[in-house]
Amino acid sequence: MRPVVWKGPSGPIPTRAELGLDNGAASPGTSTGLLASILNSTADGLLVIDHAGKILAWNDMFVSMWNLPRGVMESRHDEAAIAAVLDQVSDADAFLTRIHELYARPEKQSFETISLKDGRIFERVSKPLGPRGDIKGRVWSFRDATTRKAAERSLRESEMRFRAFAEGAACALLIYKDETIVFANKWATDVFGEILGQPFWVNIHPDDVEAAKARGRKRSRGATQDGHVDLRLIDRQGAVRWFEVTGTLIALEGRAAVLVTAYEITKRKEAEDRTRHVAFHDALTDLPNRALFVNRAEAALALARRDEGTVGMILLDIDRFKNVNDSLGRDAGDELIRRSGERLREVLRGSDTVARLGGDEFAVLLPGLGSDETVFVARKLIEAMRQPFLVAGRELRVSASLGLAVGPPDGENVQTLVKSADTAMYRAKDSGRDRLQLFDSTMNRAAIHLLELENELHEGLALDEFVLFYQPIVRAITGELCGVEALIRWRRPDGSVREPDSFVAVAEATGLIQPLGLFVLRTACRDIAHLRAALHVPLRVSVNISAAQIREVNIAALVAASLREAGIEAEALELEITESSALQGQERTLEALREIVALGVSLSLDDFGTGYASLDLLRRLPIKRIKIDRSFVQDVGSDKVDEAIASATISLAHQLSLEVVGEGVETAHQKEFLEAQGCDLLQGHLLGRPMPRDELIRSLLSDRP
Ligand code: C2E
Ligand code: MG
Ligand code: MG
Repeated sequence: MRPVVWKGPSGPIPTRAELGLDNGAASPGTSTGLLASILNSTADGLLVIDHAGKILAWNDMFVSMWNLPRGVMESRHDEAAIAAVLDQVSDADAFLTRIHELYARPEKQSFETISLKDGRIFERVSKPLGPRGDIKGRVWSFRDATTRKAAERSLRESEMRFRAFAEGAACALLIYKDETIVFANKWATDVFGEILGQPFWVNIHPDDVEAAKARGRKRSRGATQDGHVDLRLIDRQGAVRWFEVTGTLIALEGRAAVLVTAYEITKRKEAEDRTRHVAFHDALTDLPNRALFVNRAEAALALARRDEGTVGMILLDIDRFKNVNDSLGRDAGDELIRRSGERLREVLRGSDTVARLGGDEFAVLLPGLGSDETVFVARKLIEAMRQPFLVAGRELRVSASLGLAVGPPDGENVQTLVKSADTAMYRAKDSGRDRLQLFDSTMNRAAIHLLELENELHEGLALDEFVLFYQPIVRAITGELCGVEALIRWRRPDGSVREPDSFVAVAEATGLIQPLGLFVLRTACRDIAHLRAALHVPLRVSVNISAAQIREVNIAALVAASLREAGIEAEALELEITESSALQGQERTLEALREIVALGVSLSLDDFGTGYASLDLLRRLPIKRIKIDRSFVQDVGSDKVDEAIASATISLAHQLSLEVVGEGVETAHQKEFLEAQGCDLLQGHLLGRPMPRDELIRSLLSDRP
């Protein structure tokens, strides 16, 4: 290595006075003057040299930083000092070259970092001495930056380590500050896209945002966080993924920030979900199993107790399921159970639970429902089960027996409630299957009665227990027979006969009026053909029609079919509708009535005066007759108001060109009154009671001369 030698600048050396250093303020080594104090007041090492290389001043820090031996400074020549310095710097050549450069250009300033052999790092500032144009030398100032540089480096290294760690991590690392993401690692950007600068919750599933924000608020209030939270985040493809998220409060640029690690746990969650699902669902139907049903029932009952509400429960058992298994095989049985489960689920609402308890038994939980509503739902279920199933390639008809109970009245806890529903279900089985049965608690008496009636109506229909009676309608004054009204009767197996007032309303409420009404229509058409043939009189038959029949089925088509079937012309049939049914669902009803009239069938308005038919309705309805309700006829002779109503009705009807039938005529006085008022037709016990068709034929034939 070539020795580094300092060849200082040459030239005339300015005097100390010229440099303004000669008023007692010499170097600190020699003087304790003002200059020395100033020089020693700084933490930097200072050296002042004139342009000829002569040391003009220095301070103690300079000597100690460079470990200069005693006497070097006092020699006043920079050579010795520079030699000592060169000895210590790592790159003496570069150092020397720089000094030469600076000496050659006295006006230049410089700032450099110098490494020393002993590992220290100095920062060196070199400035011209004196003002521009009158530069007299150079001031060198050295600062030991070893500690700061080391700190900077270690910070840089730690930053690099963090980056390497963050970028290599197989989880999302985010830093957010002021609710904005300010750092996102590669994994996070790969999964969520470019999220820098976005609010931190943009990727959180909407249902989890509140929980995440609440956690954030708690953290910012200084509350310690209990470990991690599981959140759903939405990735750049829009897929929902599960993450285990931890947030740590950190300081960033003097402000609070949160370092978030989000570790993906989607697979684990899915596995957990699968396990949970398997534990709480039935494998064959995928419906909730008994355990889940009991859980939900407990919750619903607790809620009902708190809110003084009720919970409906239905147990459903497929009738004669064993036959299916035995005749078609187990696979077919399984298929039937699976399809039954699907049907039940379709009927129910999302808030209801249908579970499979085992075998062919299902349970339904109806939170918040009372007995009426539970019956309503059960009716839909039983109807759904009656529809044919397609099993093993063939159509299969089954039925089910349903037991209903309502908690808390029928059971304070799940166990007793299930037991009540079970008891009811066995009663349904015992009394013939294919029916509902409510658990017998005092609260349910009325509902049970209604249900029994409904079950009996079903049976009655199936066993042809319904018959029609006919009551004559005659022309006033002449007494000529014009027609008959068909009135339904229910003959029970015990020999009793029930009147329509005791069952028609239930038939209407349960939908059974449709099959019943169709039976009446068809039978009446057939019977009037028979009566006409037997009596040789062009009689008309009046059939009572319920509002539900007009509203819910294509009544005109049924009427036309019945006429065709019986081979009679439309003039032989009249339909009686009540005022109130004519008023229901007006447009649809009016439409249906017009279709019927278009067939040639006449319409009459029954029980006139009991409803609220407006004159406007009378004008718009395509009716031919009105029937004065028997309650007005009854009081003729005793109640002047009723007499006035009867007579006003007759004259009003006549003004609208309608015929009037007086109903419930029991006495000669009533008959005379109505005839005097011009009533066209009469009906009542005085003129003939309702009776079976053949009895009517016999009595009419025997009356003939
Ligand atoms: P409605 O259409 O007004 O029938 C006349 C009712 O008055 C019949 O009662 C009849 O037996 C009764 N009646 C006839 N003459 C007299 C009398 O002189 N004195 C008294 N006190 N009553 C008399 P019923 O057969 O019990 O029928 C009651 C109601 O049930 C009918 O009133 C009708 O609204 C309804 N109904 C009867 N059969 C059917 C039917 O097949 N379908 C529908 N939807 N309703 C029917
Ligand atoms: Mg009638
Ligand atoms: Mg009537």
